[in-house]
Amino acid sequence: MNLSDEELERYARHIVLREVGGVGQKKLKAASIAVIGAGGIGSAVIPALAGAGIGKLTIVDSDVVELSNLHRQPLFSEIDAGRSKAELAAAFARRLNHFVDARQVRERIDATNAQQLLGDHELVIDGSDNFATRLAVSDACVSLGIPLVSAAAVQFQGQVGLFRAKPCYRCFVGDAFDADDCDNCAELGVLGAFTGTVGSFAALLAINVIVGIGEDQAGSLQLFDGEKLAWRTIRIPPDPKCKACGSA
Ligand SMILES: [Zn+2]
Repeated sequence: MNLSDEELERYARHIVLREVGGVGQKKLKAASIAVIGAGGIGSAVIPALAGAGIGKLTIVDSDVVELSNLHRQPLFSEIDAGRSKAELAAAFARRLNHFVDARQVRERIDATNAQQLLGDHELVIDGSDNFATRLAVSDACVSLGIPLVSAAAVQFQGQVGLFRAKPCYRCFVGDAFDADDCDNCAELGVLGAFTGTVGSFAALLAINVIVGIGEDQAGSLQLFDGEKLAWRTIRIPPDPKCKACGSA
């Protein structure tokens, strides 16, 4: 897979980085990433990945734009109210970078369709807003052997983690949230600058995984305190009884 003159110019600031170079840029071009949720997290993740030249981007979101989204979802404008987020986000990605094959999936992802929707991707980024979706996405990633970047931002607490089979996201949160549709998650407050910070971190983590920059972060969770403006790292121990990745 070669880069055209136009791509060499477009990605010049990547390619001069010793850690990326032409080889890393070709890895980004060859990569396929599924982004779950074109909300506050997705609004930071999708432009970053499209700008970076991820070859194939699948955007999964069944929601439409509401006025109360706009303070944290700069993918959308006032005139977009009532329109599909997945469709608008995919169009945004293509407009930003015509080398990106951006696809929309206007479905709610759950245990019945997750494997079918996520198969054929190299990495998944989950920025959805409820535990039932997060667990369904995580279980599918474990089954398919796809690394998962999970990101969440509510009130002033943010978290970003990379999960590679074991430990998985379910090891972290347990089974209690399986039936939780958590509609009130969307009602908790959050600052747009905060979701943007957490989403940008998730995009950076994903790009580092694809290119192979830095140490493997699998199994560690980065926690961001939006009041102290500080990050800290915790290790997630594998749960031997985990329904998804455990030996039971
Ligand atoms: Zn697990």
